[in-house]
Amino acid sequence: MAELKLYDTLTREKRPFAPLDPARGVRMYVCGPTVYDFAHIGNARPVIVFDVLFRLLRHLYGADHVTYVRNITDVDDKINKRAFERWTHERPLTAEIRALTDQTLAQFHADVDALGCLRPSHEPRATDFVCRPEPSALDMIKIIERLIARGHAYVEQGHVLFDVPSMPAYGKLARRSLDEMVAGARVDVAPYKRDPMDFVLWKPSDPEKEPGWESPWGFGRPGWHIECSAMSGALLGEVFDIHGGGIDLVFPHHENEIAQTCCAFGTERMANFWMHNGFLMVEGEKMSKSLGNFITIRELLASDRFGGQNWVGDVLRLAMLKTHYRQPIDWTAEGLNESTNTLDDWFRLAAPDQPAEPSPAVIGALADDLNTPKMIAELHALRNRIRVPQQGAEAEELGRNLAFLGFDRARFAAWQKSREHAVLQALGGIDETEIERLIAARLAARKARNFAESDRIRDELVAKGIALMDAKDPATGELTTTWKVAR
Ligand code: AMP
Ligand code: ZN
Repeated sequence: MAELKLYDTLTREKRPFAPLDPARGVRMYVCGPTVYDFAHIGNARPVIVFDVLFRLLRHLYGADHVTYVRNITDVDDKINKRAFERWTHERPLTAEIRALTDQTLAQFHADVDALGCLRPSHEPRATDFVCRPEPSALDMIKIIERLIARGHAYVEQGHVLFDVPSMPAYGKLARRSLDEMVAGARVDVAPYKRDPMDFVLWKPSDPEKEPGWESPWGFGRPGWHIECSAMSGALLGEVFDIHGGGIDLVFPHHENEIAQTCCAFGTERMANFWMHNGFLMVEGEKMSKSLGNFITIRELLASDRFGGQNWVGDVLRLAMLKTHYRQPIDWTAEGLNESTNTLDDWFRLAAPDQPAEPSPAVIGALADDLNTPKMIAELHALRNRIRVPQQGAEAEELGRNLAFLGFDRARFAAWQKSREHAVLQALGGIDETEIERLIAARLAARKARNFAESDRIRDELVAKGIALMDAKDPATGELTTTWKVAR
């Protein structure tokens, strides 16, 4: 078995991975979406990166020995604001909030399914983990109570705050000075805070405008960070193997998760490995909602924003994997075109209907801290060894790797067809049956050694924007011709 090595943001080193408790299998937690608006393609990056890691772990340890939790943040001030804006008072505000988060979550699922990502083992909703009546069921209120009891949190004006100076190891993940942390967290100096770094665990809610739960500190709602400590603790345990998310979550979100979890449970660490993906950039800036420079997954897959073309999830997936997950990606339409050509080529050569089974070379590349650029180079090398399209051991091997990586031949082919159809219509005057007829006529001319005629037919098609590709079976010498729309 290939030795898995992963880079850990906490220790700043790449080191061998082994499950903390082999009997429980590998336990991984990734911070998921805040469900108030469509996910953009920057948000798609952690989803795709950790999907590849999930597939790798399932291969190495067995599908039943990997638990992947990705939470749904469905309590948040942006959600409250959005729901309040569209609230018509026909139903309670809480029902309005639930409708908004349900609708956004359904779209998120449609998006990530279209990107070829497996569903995680659990997708807990934060609102289900605020307060759970059974005494043994861990929830946010119970963790906050523990933090208060252990002297790591205090109550002030209906708020509960984490007492940052009570934890000497605070800042270890981010490795920043106190001044940098204060600036980075954009902390407000609120009257209920003893120290500007202290962060909110619980805050009061206005029952007219905001969702809330009864708690020992009055009617209120949780702060942002506590949900991940509760859901990871309840579903994976106090210490688990891998915690992931985008690099922007290192500080303050993950630093605060560590503070809450370690201080509540009296543990040294929360996760054995911390993994963070780099940003998806647009013209030198992080793609983000607040900058307004984003493209939603939905738009990319369905609209004509990119020069009249829409795209299929497989293309986005490959474009994302061409860059190592810790590096930034500079997003361009050209990258999508290149990935389209690569997939077109791979599917043309790979044998269809293969089981999902990766090659040792692919696993070797992925086991080296998810080296997807190296993995893609291995697939190109494999592709170059294929002699007859879709036939032979190498063609089958390529097909097995593509299936393992979540690339879907039928989905890609359906998209190619619909796109070609649209282009043919735009070119005018030629359709698929006409092309097939001309190809057959050209092959007949070649057989009759009438090369002038076969060249004339090819030129006629090229003039109409159709490129022909000939492939010869080395055993029988028989020629087959396929076509595509030349860009
Ligand atoms: P958010 O909805 O902003 O909390 O983000 C959800 C996930 O997407 C988090 O893991 C973020 O770190 C990640 N993310 C947001 N923007 C980007 C981006 N431009 N590039 C890569 N990851 C991102
Ligand atoms: Zn989180």
